[in-house]
Amino acid sequence: MTAKRHPNVSSDSGTRRALARARDGKTLDLAEAAILLRARGDDLDALLAHASRVRDAGLEAAGRPGVITYSRKVFIPLTRLCRDRCGYCTFATAPHKLPDAFLSPDEVLEIARQGAAMGCKEALFTLGDRPEDRWHQAREWLDAHGYDDTLSYVRAMAIRVLEETGLLPHLNPGVLTWKDLQRLKPVAPSMGMMLETTSRRLFTEKGEAHYGSPDKDPDVRLRVLEDAGRSSVPFTTGLLIGIGETIEERAESIFAIRRVAREYGGIQEVIVQNFRAKPDTAMRGMPDADLHELAATIAVTRLVLGPKVRVQAPPNLIGEEYTLMLRAGIDDWGGVSPLTPDHVNPERPWPQIDDLAARTAAAGFTLRERLTIYPEYVLAGEPWLDPRLTEHVAALADPATGLAREDAVLQGRPWQEPDGGLVTGGRADLHTAVDAEGRTGDRRADFDSVYGDWDALRERLPSGGRDGSVRDHTVRADVREALRQAEADPARLTDEQALTLLDLAGDQSGAGADDAGLEELCRIADGLRREAVGDDVTYVVNRNINFTNVCYTGCRFCAFAQRRTDADAYTLSLSEVADRAQEAWEAGATEVCMQGGIHPDLPGTAYFDIARAVKERRPEMHVHAFSPMEVVNGASRTNLSVEEWLHAAREAGVDSLPGTAAEILDDDVRWVLTKGKLPAREWIEVITTAHRVGIPTTSTMMYGHVDTHEHWVRHIRLIRSIQEETGGFSEFVLLPFVHHSAPIYLAGIARPGPTARENRAVHALARIMLHGAIRNIQCSWVKLRDDLCRDVLAGGVNDLGGTLMEETISRMAGSENGSYKTISEIAAMVAPTGRPLRQRTTSYGRPSEERAEAARRSDGVCQSVRGPLLTVSPVVRRE
Ligand code: SF4
Repeated sequence: MTAKRHPNVSSDSGTRRALARARDGKTLDLAEAAILLRARGDDLDALLAHASRVRDAGLEAAGRPGVITYSRKVFIPLTRLCRDRCGYCTFATAPHKLPDAFLSPDEVLEIARQGAAMGCKEALFTLGDRPEDRWHQAREWLDAHGYDDTLSYVRAMAIRVLEETGLLPHLNPGVLTWKDLQRLKPVAPSMGMMLETTSRRLFTEKGEAHYGSPDKDPDVRLRVLEDAGRSSVPFTTGLLIGIGETIEERAESIFAIRRVAREYGGIQEVIVQNFRAKPDTAMRGMPDADLHELAATIAVTRLVLGPKVRVQAPPNLIGEEYTLMLRAGIDDWGGVSPLTPDHVNPERPWPQIDDLAARTAAAGFTLRERLTIYPEYVLAGEPWLDPRLTEHVAALADPATGLAREDAVLQGRPWQEPDGGLVTGGRADLHTAVDAEGRTGDRRADFDSVYGDWDALRERLPSGGRDGSVRDHTVRADVREALRQAEADPARLTDEQALTLLDLAGDQSGAGADDAGLEELCRIADGLRREAVGDDVTYVVNRNINFTNVCYTGCRFCAFAQRRTDADAYTLSLSEVADRAQEAWEAGATEVCMQGGIHPDLPGTAYFDIARAVKERRPEMHVHAFSPMEVVNGASRTNLSVEEWLHAAREAGVDSLPGTAAEILDDDVRWVLTKGKLPAREWIEVITTAHRVGIPTTSTMMYGHVDTHEHWVRHIRLIRSIQEETGGFSEFVLLPFVHHSAPIYLAGIARPGPTARENRAVHALARIMLHGAIRNIQCSWVKLRDDLCRDVLAGGVNDLGGTLMEETISRMAGSENGSYKTISEIAAMVAPTGRPLRQRTTSYGRPSEERAEAARRSDGVCQSVRGPLLTVSPVVRRE
């Protein structure tokens, strides 16, 4: 069938050019996409042909040529209450029109069981957005049934469905935060939320479709798509066309989806849905979106998104135009239910699956059933699929294709913690072997996928990029004034003055440096240090225990994390952790510092188990453990709030938290530095909650990668404001970026760490900006050479951190400063400064004489970790 002729449209040169580019496989720009969205008649026929070719190439590459997929599902409308008021929606309703605010667990399970009996494999949870924020009936229902919020109920029901029916949940609960995604990922192999449109006008202008619907802010919805990508959640999104958006806005929406799809690779399908007016809605008078317009949008979506992205048109909204949609480039019909109606479009029944198969065959394709998680993600497994769901998915998936198994038997399976998260395995001697032999390769095996798309990332670089950022060095008029302010009243130094002081370091090449000014800055910081803490240079005898390096978070600066199967991957058992703590105790340690990768197999209780294992062996040992990222990970796995989790962690033996995972507390930088690590606001929430419940933390800043001096100043300012509110930071630790094996450096995006002058300037500035708030400024001997440590000791620093015994994280990144320092080595480093050296506890108290004596005997480092140090380069390929 050919597209219906449109009498008023003829090819103009713009259309011809855009069609030619589409035909030749060239990348379309926004203007060309908008032109093609208007194509009708012969132009539309040509457009559809080009889109078809791209779709066919994609299916061929995916190993399923000519296969159009669908998912056999039941629709579970968990609640039809919603806090939004979209002008086209009949799904959302008012409490008095419903028997109850939510479906009961029995009702949910009844629908799921019937679906399972009819061969369905997907349980589509569709519901209104956070109804408890608008309807007291929803709040009361949740309270009466013991759920904190709607998402807690969704999570609980997804688990029940998995356990009692074996159906795979697909969750559509509306807008989700990054933390919500962590919480829901273990219970659903896929999730979704329609972007609908990026048109802000439709959201802000009265009378438009999204006016009055807080969750339809396009910026919020795009953030959800990004957070899903960062969290490696296979995610469904799409466009709703004909709701008042212009053609240009529609094109922009397609490009917005493309950007996220490209950057994270997590958009598993894009639904292109046409608006259909419904009686009893504010938009009942609007015309339905024309099906040729829909076809053109599908085709442009296909061309812009390319062959890999799956494009879908809902078969119950397209009348008889199945062939037209296939010609437009779809490769999926979405979820089709043999049991439940489309509750969002109840007036449009889904076709019978046999009928759909026949219509698909008539157009020359084969219909095959897929699961809610698309085959590509089934076959990839980690990090897309949580280990708690592996068995549920494997029971239904054809292992060769990732599509649904023809002979699958639906059967509930327990949803439980993975076994064996803390079973020893891999290169468990890495902590010493990295010194003697180096790492196996300079990058992990999934380097090209685990961090997202490197090219897309380049477009995200904050200003300054690889070259760092220093301002105009010719302007020096304010330097004297800034130095005077720093000395006279450091707490009132302005951001502008702080930047002026950082500028003393010059740029990457040293150009513009003002060495006399820098000396003066360090002198002032040195004076403030003396005033705050005296002359003692302190250190702690401690041991790092990094219990696993398996991690798929995708921090792009991290050279420590490994894929499970990499040669350098390892995990320690609980008894190995306890053994290392015991050994450290015998060497005089007062602290173990424990952090690890976000291993997908870690049981929810792993962090508590680790703390307990140490305390059971050495009750007096201070357990300084678990970064805010690990806290959030632990809380989402145990389904506890951060506060509940922290209380439980303290009971298990955690005495303080490292304030790592801060990097730079600015999301513009964070989302370049890391793919999946927690956003800045979550870091702040964990830290302030810890302080509130009485758990002290350190604070850190990792700098000198893709950041600018402005970021450093804002970060230090933020740390100070948190400290003024909570008083819970014991110290501020400056962590220069170690670049050699850092993925973001290998990809050519980050600069090779800060310069020596920058290190001096920022340590001094931290002392000045934090004066009166944080007493202890720590430098990292792991990341700075001895002479640089001495330089910063002369410019505001009073603490050197620990003897560490096994520092593996920076060593894996290429630090050449070893993985431990004996007390003698620390003393030798400090001696030229003439300052007294003093052992301290984690909280800067004095260790007992017994501890100090044990430390003296061992020289602060246990024998088992001592060995030769690779001096050429710590990054050496083993044969
Ligand atoms: S920094 Fe931590 S969370 Fe990030 S990749 Fe490395 S080990 Fe994983």
